[in-house]
Amino acid sequence: MSHYETLGVPRDASTNDIKDAYRAAVLKHHPDKLAGADCGNGAEASLADSADFKRVQQAWEVLRDPSQRAAYDSGLTLAALRATVAFQDELTLDEMDAETEEGEDVYTYPCRCGDSYRLRKVDANEHPDIAVQCRTCSNQVLVKTT
Ligand SMILES: [Zn+2]
Repeated sequence: MSHYETLGVPRDASTNDIKDAYRAAVLKHHPDKLAGADCGNGAEASLADSADFKRVQQAWEVLRDPSQRAAYDSGLTLAALRATVAFQDELTLDEMDAETEEGEDVYTYPCRCGDSYRLRKVDANEHPDIAVQCRTCSNQVLVKTT
């Protein structure tokens, strides 16, 4: 479960939206509040809610901070890519063709759809792993640049 799912917000939610969701979740899950409430759920339910509360807290700690959130987002994208792409999902720069396009150094690789993946050299230099989308279709590959 991602931090976004934990808080019930979309990936592109604003920090204010996330804060509202966090506050609502705290009210719902806070162990102290549960301990005092006569909800009749028993000890097991309280324990589960307490674990939920920890997840809510962790999610908020990451998503409230723009730099932590950005790092988390790129990790999510990579994880989703690894989970969904089963065919020719990883490339190294050696397998790609180095070309110059409009004065810019790029790496290209043919996609099954007939078009190609295109990775700018400057981007390849900045990221150890980078997801590259085909210029035409929705296929993606993970390029390992190191
Ligand atoms: Zn394609």
